[in-house]
This record gives sequence, structure tokens and C-alpha cells, in this order.
Amino acid sequence: MAQHKAIRDYIRTIVDFPHEGILFRDVTTLFADPRGFRMAVDQMLHPYAGLRIDKVVGLEARGFILGGAVAHQLGTGFVPIRKKGKLPGATISQAYTLEYGEAIVELHDDAIQPGETILLVDDLLATGGTAEAGIKLIERLGGQIIGCAFVVDLPDLGGRKRLEAMGMDVHVLCE
Ligand code: 5GP
Repeated sequence: MAQHKAIRDYIRTIVDFPHEGILFRDVTTLFADPRGFRMAVDQMLHPYAGLRIDKVVGLEARGFILGGAVAHQLGTGFVPIRKKGKLPGATISQAYTLEYGEAIVELHDDAIQPGETILLVDDLLATGGTAEAGIKLIERLGGQIIGCAFVVDLPDLGGRKRLEAMGMDVHVLCE
């Protein structure tokens, strides 16, 4: 018999990870399921069918898994945004604020050409700090962001509003 589980039904919640008081939304159970993973990838690219997208950009690390599959399906290239010190070529960097302290993400300085159209992909949108840093990197190279797609949005943390205030089109599969 066909299954009728929704995306959210494949996502597991881990209590007190990575530290006490945090409810971690674990998408590895979604990725591990053949129907769940295909549904997530299909739903992520659905609003962008027929639009010109030159590249999919994925945020480390789960954005690579989704972004690679989305790029393959759209027939585009894939570009990673990584944490500081991981990319081998010349990079541009962007700092952003975490709950405790600061982090830096990087993009190869030749990975996007001015005017290229970009779809930004990650697994989860919380405060929006990581995605905002990614958007700034893409825009610094002249990329034109068509949309930002996430599997999960945590609306209480305000990330969606933050990205929309930057003029972004935000697409989420579940809250
Ligand atoms: P933000 O920068 O929006 O506050 O946090 C989002 C980033 O942290 C994303 O790259 C996401 O992968 C990661 N993240 C934060 N909380 C969770 C969570 O509960 N589950 C998962 N899968 N990722 C999370």
C-alpha cells in the first residue's frame, strides 16, 4: 500500500543536542528514506521550474546533500559555501554572529559570475544568520538570488522574516 507520510513525519527530534535545552531537528532520517528524500528534493525545486537558474549554492553541510540533488535535477552546476579554511582555492569570507561568538563562511571567489542566477539551499532556517552570510557572499560576487529553499523553518527564531526583509523569496517545506 502507498505511504502518505508528509516531509515532517520523516524528521526526527533529538532532545538536548548539541547541548542541553536544544531540540535538534534531525533530517538524516528524511535523507535516509527513499521516498522522503525524493519528496524533499522535488518539493524544494518545485517553485523554480521554468525559471532560469544558473547555479545551486548549498550551505555546509546538509545543504550539500540537498543542493547536489536539486542541482542535478535542475540541470545546473553546484557551488558549496563552507566554513572557514575548508575551500582550497582563493575565497571571499563573511563573518556572522552565533548564539555564542562568531563564525565565518567562505565561497571561492570565481565560483559565481556577475549576473548568474542562484538558488540557495540549506536544510533548516533558524535565526537566518547562516543564510544571510551566504546571501552576502553570493551578492558580493554579483550573483542574483532567485530564491532560498529550506526543508524546515523554525518560525519563532525569525529567520524567514529576516531574509524576506532583505528582499529574498523564501521557500520552506515545513515548520
Ligand atoms: P541559523 O543560522 O538560521 O540560526 O541556523 C541554521 C543553520 O544551523 C543551518 O545551517 C542548519 O543546518 C543549522 N541548524 C541549526 N539548528 C538546527 C536543527 O535543529 N537541525 C538541523 N538539522 N540543523 C540545524
